[in-house]
Amino acid sequence: MEKTLFEKIADGEIPADIVYQDAQCVAFRDIAPVAPQHVLLVPRKPIPSLSGAVGEDAELLGHLMLTAAQIAEHLGLKEQGYRVVANTGSAAGQTVPHLHFHILGGRTLEWPPG
Ligand code: AMP
Repeated sequence: MEKTLFEKIADGEIPADIVYQDAQCVAFRDIAPVAPQHVLLVPRKPIPSLSGAVGEDAELLGHLMLTAAQIAEHLGLKEQGYRVVANTGSAAGQTVPHLHFHILGGRTLEWPPG
């Protein structure tokens, strides 16, 4: 099966501004940031979306959430706050079919989102 864009980034086949990586996940700056800080956190495992996650992914998902919080702290966002978003499916605007969490911060974020 052909690799997703984010798999290629995780494997170093496409360049990206990587801010964190470990055996399970990679985080890199979004190419079209919508906030002063906009990082994408992706699992190395090519899960298509949150809807594609299964029971055996529970530990990985927990690792991703804790890692998102650590990255946000590293970016200096812990005190002022930040948002972690997983667009899931077409109505939510998901464009890359590989699970990813947007870590957004550095400005006041509106609620509800558009
Ligand atoms: P989503 O719309 O939730 O699927 O998010 C996909 C995100 O990937 C968008 O915010 C894009 O700007 C971002 N993106 C697409 N291609 C790249 C790339 N080569 N490097 C970094 N971010 C990318």
